[in-house]
Amino acid sequence: MPVVFVGHGSPMNLIEDNQWSRGFRGLGQRLPRPAAILAVSAHWFVDGTFVTGGDSPRTIHDFSGFPQALYEIEYPAPGDPDLAERARLLVGGDRAALSADWGLDHGTWSVLRWMYPEADIPVVQLSIDRRLEPAGHLELGRRITSLREESVLILASGNLTHNLPDAFRRMREGATETPGWAARFDDAAAEAITGRDTAGLLALWPDSLDGRRAHPTPDHWLPVLYAYGASRPDDRVDFPAAGFDLGSLSMRSVVFG
Ligand code: ZN
Repeated sequence: MPVVFVGHGSPMNLIEDNQWSRGFRGLGQRLPRPAAILAVSAHWFVDGTFVTGGDSPRTIHDFSGFPQALYEIEYPAPGDPDLAERARLLVGGDRAALSADWGLDHGTWSVLRWMYPEADIPVVQLSIDRRLEPAGHLELGRRITSLREESVLILASGNLTHNLPDAFRRMREGATETPGWAARFDDAAAEAITGRDTAGLLALWPDSLDGRRAHPTPDHWLPVLYAYGASRPDDRVDFPAAGFDLGSLSMRSVVFG
């Protein structure tokens, strides 16, 4: 099974028929149908490593100030307690715990709603432990790579550049051109991924000026490290979507394998 990183962008992609939502739909159509999905979302960024362990994860509407229609959408995919336990053991039984509280946040379901609209594939989420260094996240990605042999789709969801104050300011000012730091960082990430330059990828955040501008906080950056970690040297790398929304928000997606 391939590994996917997806740039999820604005929650408006949930209801808009646009190039991004069409891209999510196309992604679902081009991949082999997974037996289950293990999602790593930017929006479950907490102190600890957790895995959703329930039978029917709730749809979490973790955004505010959007049209009411978005809050009425449910994504009733089943959970997969067996997969949750296997994933927990793979990332480390001593460090990871099952969570009964979390469900599917919009980093996951805003994309899956287009990829798999029937919501009939079980979904488990893995949290991002904000206390870890970038290399620690990449290592956790490595540990879950064997799930690919079980037809589990590892789906990491973030954005390769994500500076919301900057994006909102551009939106207010009608300034839609992409700033140099965003284009450079997005390019550098794509180049490191394509060239399998692990050290180069890890050096992008927080050690570069562009990196700190692209990610004032690392939550939307770290998911790609899980996808990269779960990929293998012989995986083909493809970018089914690329480009920017709101000027500076990279919508690049990556398929490994
Ligand atoms: Zn987000």
